[in-house]
Amino acid sequence: MVNEDFLCSHILGELALSEVNQEFDGCRLCWAISEQGRRYPENTILFDMGDHVVIPAVGSLRPGYLLIVSRDHKRALATLSSEEIECFETQLQSLIERLAPVSDGWLAFEHGSSSSCPAPGCCVDHFHFHLFPVSHSESLQVVKCIESTSQRIGSLQQIPHLLTNRPEAYIVIRDAEGTIHFFHGFGFPSQFVRQILAAECAIAHEWNWRDYVLFDNVVETLRLLRTNGLSQRIVYFAHAIEGIPESEIIEEITAARNIFKQHCSGFEVTSMFELIGKSLAVSDVAPHIDENQLLVESEVRFLSASDVLVADLSREAWRYVGCLMEIVYAKQLGVPVVAVCGTSGIEHRRWLNAHVDYFAANLHEAAVYIRDLS
Ligand SMILES: [Zn+2]
Ligand SMILES: [Zn+2]
Repeated sequence: MVNEDFLCSHILGELALSEVNQEFDGCRLCWAISEQGRRYPENTILFDMGDHVVIPAVGSLRPGYLLIVSRDHKRALATLSSEEIECFETQLQSLIERLAPVSDGWLAFEHGSSSSCPAPGCCVDHFHFHLFPVSHSESLQVVKCIESTSQRIGSLQQIPHLLTNRPEAYIVIRDAEGTIHFFHGFGFPSQFVRQILAAECAIAHEWNWRDYVLFDNVVETLRLLRTNGLSQRIVYFAHAIEGIPESEIIEEITAARNIFKQHCSGFEVTSMFELIGKSLAVSDVAPHIDENQLLVESEVRFLSASDVLVADLSREAWRYVGCLMEIVYAKQLGVPVVAVCGTSGIEHRRWLNAHVDYFAANLHEAAVYIRDLS
């Protein structure tokens, strides 16, 4: 799944693949929106529309690129009932309006296949619509590539009728003006629209999402939505964990969450203990995976997608190891660091000083500083 990412994430990629195959019957999207999938920031659910959710697109050719995915495993749009398509069409329209601060124009498209088509379309066989931010001239450019073979239709609801008794694949594109272009048949190149878009983005050879996750763009997508006020900002909360009773750790996380809610409501506290804790019992799925390495790769990935790191270093005489390493990674990744020191005196240590943007005496002070950052 992952092979070009900056964190040599082979363990994460390998674990994802084992899970997809062993627990989700080979469906990458069922996995992505499950609890297991949430260990990966690229599967962050950005909008929940009931029967559909929105996540960043994997193979993220450009920041802002999203996927609308059905919550249940369903096949392509052409296989849905007319009520389901009508409901989806309404949701798509309101989503595009909601996303206006991110981009004026959106290209919505699907590579699908009809219900009588035995082979799935050229993408993934789980209902998903691509939503891609474009300028109006780019949208025209894409339409030009397909114009000679496509027909214009008034509504997505026409699609099943156009494919009656035709076991075919199809492509549907809703351009930036809202016009819907439809064409069907056999033998489209794989991920056809993505190939056109990759060329538009000047990364023509990176069109295949299976080979190019483009994680940096995923992180940018998460940031884009946050800076436009469309999703919560993320505080990555690092604190003492190893050797501490679970009940005490949960109490600490709850207390931190309440303090942040009180001072900066636009921020959500992410606790790696909550996200990773349960899933560290991976031995059933992939017994050979090094859990320590998995822990580090997962945490660093989430850290890179967070807005700020708050490290609680306030326990006196505690040997902080994980937190200090997280601080170094955050500094390297350009994520601001706030350290909470209490009366431990740790803020006087030189190395720490060089890596921390702000020292707070307690979590309240840290939360007030973060509120004023934004
Ligand atoms: Zn599925
Ligand atoms: Zn697709």
